Amino acid sequence: MTANEIRDSFKKFFESKQHAIVPSAPMVIKDDPTLMFTNAGMNQWKDIILGTRDPEPRRRADTQKCLRVSGKHNDLEEVGHDTYHHTMFEMLGNWSFGDYFKEGAIDMAWEYLVDVLKLNPEDLYVTVFEGSPEENIPRDDEAAKYWSKHVPEDHIINGNKHDNFWEMGDTGPCGPCSEIHVDSRTPEQRKASGKSGRELVNQDDPQVIEIWNLVFMQFNRKADGSLEKLSMNVIDTGMGFERLVRMLQGKHSNYDTDIFQPIIKAEEQITGKKYTTFEEGEVSKEQDDINVAMRVCADHLRAVSFSIADGQLPSNAKAGYVIRRILRRAVRYAYTFLGQREAFLFKLVPTLVHEMGDAFPELKAQQQLISKVMMEEEDAFLRTLDKGISLLDKAMEQLKAEGKTELDGVQAFRLFDTYGFPLDLTELICRENGFTVNEEQFNVEMQKQKERARNAAAVENSDWVELAQGEQQFVGYDYTEYECRILRYRKVTQKKNEFYELVLDYTPFYGEMGGQVGDCGVLVNEAETIEIIDTKRENNQSVHIVKQLPKDPTAQFMACVDTDKRDASAANHTATHLLDYALKQVLGDHVEQKGSFVSADTLRFDFSHFQKVSDEEIRLVERMVNEMIREDIPLDEHRDVPFDEAKKLGAIALFGEKYGDKVRVVRFGPSCEFCGGIHAKATGKIGFFKIVAESSVAAGIRRIEAKTGKECEELLYKTEDILKAVKSFFNNAKDLQATIVKYIEEHDSMKKEIESFQAARVASLSKELVEKGRIVNGVKVVTAKAPIAPDAAKDLVFKVRELCPENLVCVVGSVFNEKPMLNVMLSDDMVKDHGLNAGLLVREAAKLMQGGGGGQPHFASAGGKNPDGLSAAIDKVIELCNL
Ligand code: ATP
Ligand code: MG
Repeated sequence: MTANEIRDSFKKFFESKQHAIVPSAPMVIKDDPTLMFTNAGMNQWKDIILGTRDPEPRRRADTQKCLRVSGKHNDLEEVGHDTYHHTMFEMLGNWSFGDYFKEGAIDMAWEYLVDVLKLNPEDLYVTVFEGSPEENIPRDDEAAKYWSKHVPEDHIINGNKHDNFWEMGDTGPCGPCSEIHVDSRTPEQRKASGKSGRELVNQDDPQVIEIWNLVFMQFNRKADGSLEKLSMNVIDTGMGFERLVRMLQGKHSNYDTDIFQPIIKAEEQITGKKYTTFEEGEVSKEQDDINVAMRVCADHLRAVSFSIADGQLPSNAKAGYVIRRILRRAVRYAYTFLGQREAFLFKLVPTLVHEMGDAFPELKAQQQLISKVMMEEEDAFLRTLDKGISLLDKAMEQLKAEGKTELDGVQAFRLFDTYGFPLDLTELICRENGFTVNEEQFNVEMQKQKERARNAAAVENSDWVELAQGEQQFVGYDYTEYECRILRYRKVTQKKNEFYELVLDYTPFYGEMGGQVGDCGVLVNEAETIEIIDTKRENNQSVHIVKQLPKDPTAQFMACVDTDKRDASAANHTATHLLDYALKQVLGDHVEQKGSFVSADTLRFDFSHFQKVSDEEIRLVERMVNEMIREDIPLDEHRDVPFDEAKKLGAIALFGEKYGDKVRVVRFGPSCEFCGGIHAKATGKIGFFKIVAESSVAAGIRRIEAKTGKECEELLYKTEDILKAVKSFFNNAKDLQATIVKYIEEHDSMKKEIESFQAARVASLSKELVEKGRIVNGVKVVTAKAPIAPDAAKDLVFKVRELCPENLVCVVGSVFNEKPMLNVMLSDDMVKDHGLNAGLLVREAAKLMQGGGGGQPHFASAGGKNPDGLSAAIDKVIELCNL
């Protein structure tokens, strides 16, 4: 079976078991402060598991794009070195939210692997949780009982808390899990090792690996560490797609399957190097390095491409930085082991799109952007690498000069931190040149940095205090004031700041989402007024941030939104929709929203486009948006539209955005988008729209910043004031432009006149000086002090040398704007035969006028602070010449 067929068979199997087949959530997570990337299939169901979202349909299955490169799951360093961990991989999963539990999950997994896919049951081992006496959790006998229907006892293995007890985080849902492992060793390997598969489970043997993990969520862990029963049992399973494909294709490395081989073939073609598969047996160290590098590149190509398609570009912060590091890791391996000195990865994009573009259309749609971003990132990093290498060269030269053989760890760390040079690359280059690196020191520096980062990010949450049961209702599309009670609250401590988060039963407050800032406002009743300083969105609900709790948190309140701010940000949000529409009209259909930020006083819109937007295009866009504002098009909003119907309405969905089964569609005339944000009631509310900046944020991505309404008024006044001020400089001339042009022309001609005047003066002065010069031991000594500009002084000494090309020492001091300046000119023979050096002379003499300078052997100059020392400095030069 091909990989694509295997993916389909999984979906078909679970469909036949009444599961709804759902799309993969984006790999990049945008609205969850606790997680940057999807690292497991269950991430997108967190709201359901926590009970803040409707669990229907209760059976679901999918393939989920996962990335394990940061936080709790970080496999990055393994990737490429082993043959079964990837940064980005697909996790096949099935879920039950309060429907079937352990028995159903175990039976279905077994049926799929053994009856449908025909894996050999003798090669399969399962693990069950051995229990934890200190937490008072017994062994998972239940799971063991269901497994024993399918496998003999000696294929069931007890596992510890680390491998067999799954937790969502420090707090929250958790429970025992059961893993399925496959022994895929060759008969020869089995004979040679003499060990049974059972003995190798969870021992990091590359041929006895976990393929499927079935998690049985039945507990909730509270902040004090204790466990309580979950109100709804949840089945959460995850199977590594690439590992499954490898088993079914009879391979012994994920990279030997049809998922990776086409990419590796493309790498071979470009680099002229060969990859060796598992079947080809043992290889030399050199060939192994090549194999590792090819695996790294094939893997990272996928991770970076999928991230860009999901809207996360490489950058220098947060998720973007993680992606940048993955890409750099690939560049580094390609550079070191595949001899690639130029951008390389981007050349593999067409192959990836050809292989995976059907299953993941976002790749196909954004191929051009992916290639372009990747190539520019690669180029930029290669330049940094070059810089780092030359720094390292210098450092090694110095070591040699000092007779040392070890590079200190602080320097190695700086290379890592600033130039992305990991230790092994620094070590490699050093080793090739006969040096070692102080690894211990490096690790100390690394540790220090980690601690700094940890301290900066530490956030502490207390348990939620439940005041009432229920789910929150958001009423903010229709109201800005609403009666409410607090459902629950908790204390949050971040960098020593304390605040509270409140969840209300009804709220008109919009929580920050989709680039639009959260509302602020107040909670009031007769007894008190509590300020809401911000509203965040978490697990599908608005979380209100307050500095202090109400005295009586159980009282009834009126939740009132600050409508001035809200109206301004709503108008700006509507303006971004109109802008998006106008950009597509003016620039073309390739324009894709890549990010936006909307607050009360500004709006920012990032989009894919491959060159600067010209001034004329900007005008066209502005005119189109303002036209739509004047038309005062009313908001046409459709809530709870099924996803497919919304698409039929022609609404624009964003790549990398997570949408539920039902969506909201926002239409203003021809502009129609999927959007959950707050909008103006009609476009007229925007007032006026003006673009204030257009720039590049990354390869292939442009950014437009714009102002609307009142902010435009301010902008206009500011511009008017500047213009008035400028006019007043020109006696309030009627035709300002013509007047300024006249001034510029006058200025230019005056400048020319001064220059020719100066040249004439320099010419006559130089003649005069040469005539006045003394002869000392056959050398012409010309000295002078003149009140001339620095460039004239320089011209002067060159002129003197023209007149007197041999046996010349010329020193001209000048004072200009109260600053002394010293110019020393020597004829070539004075340098060659007399061993004089103008640079050294000027440096020494300039000390007398509190200055410094330098230059070439025949000509040098210096500036200083003390004009009174100028004469002494001139004399000093002559003295130092020792004629
Ligand atoms: P391992 O011990 O092999 O790292 P895990 O315990 O981290 O696996 P889970 O978190 O249980 O794995 O994930 C479920 C399944 O996803 C695993 O059984 C495995 O098949 C697959 N998987 C996990 N990590 C990776 C990875 N980095 N690359 C490819 N597949 C993976
Ligand atoms: Mg793991």
